Amino acid sequence: MTTQEKINYSICIQCLGCYNSGRNNFQWVNILNDNLEEKIKQLKKSCTCDYIKCDEIEIWDYENVPSNFSLNEYDDLKDFLGVLTDQGHDQNDVRIIFKYLGDIGSNLNDVNANDIRFEKTDNLSNWAYDMAVDVHGYDENTLIGVSVDWEQTAKEFLYDYSEYYDDVNHEYYLFPNNQ
Ligand SMILES: [Zn+2]
Repeated sequence: MTTQEKINYSICIQCLGCYNSGRNNFQWVNILNDNLEEKIKQLKKSCTCDYIKCDEIEIWDYENVPSNFSLNEYDDLKDFLGVLTDQGHDQNDVRIIFKYLGDIGSNLNDVNANDIRFEKTDNLSNWAYDMAVDVHGYDENTLIGVSVDWEQTAKEFLYDYSEYYDDVNHEYYLFPNNQ
């Protein structure tokens, strides 16, 4: 069963000048639904900096998006999401992909959304068996006669992967390291 969870892809922008003067001036921006320019306008409205309003805007916080992108990449981020969605990835897939990208410190400009590969399984032992047969060419008839610790085999195969367990779908997401 697949749970289609609606994910909030957001960044929180704030005026650095306000922040440095101890004033809270920030806006949460929903990547999919909000207009960034509009949000920046609102930010400037509540800015009480002396000279230039919101001279420097920084991303202060984020939710479900890679932490290492700049405000200039906002449109790239939207395009990126668009491509992932076009490829049939659901909200959970996208969330895990972003988590992975954030962890490996990928700059969004350097990553092509079309190139992101991963495998999904709800059972690592079954996955290891399939890997042995499909990728490493083991003969299924031979495997019937031998006792294999597939859990251990999975651990060995996983040296070449980054593994994420998704609590929502109860599935493992396996990203090959060589991508
Ligand atoms: Zn300000």
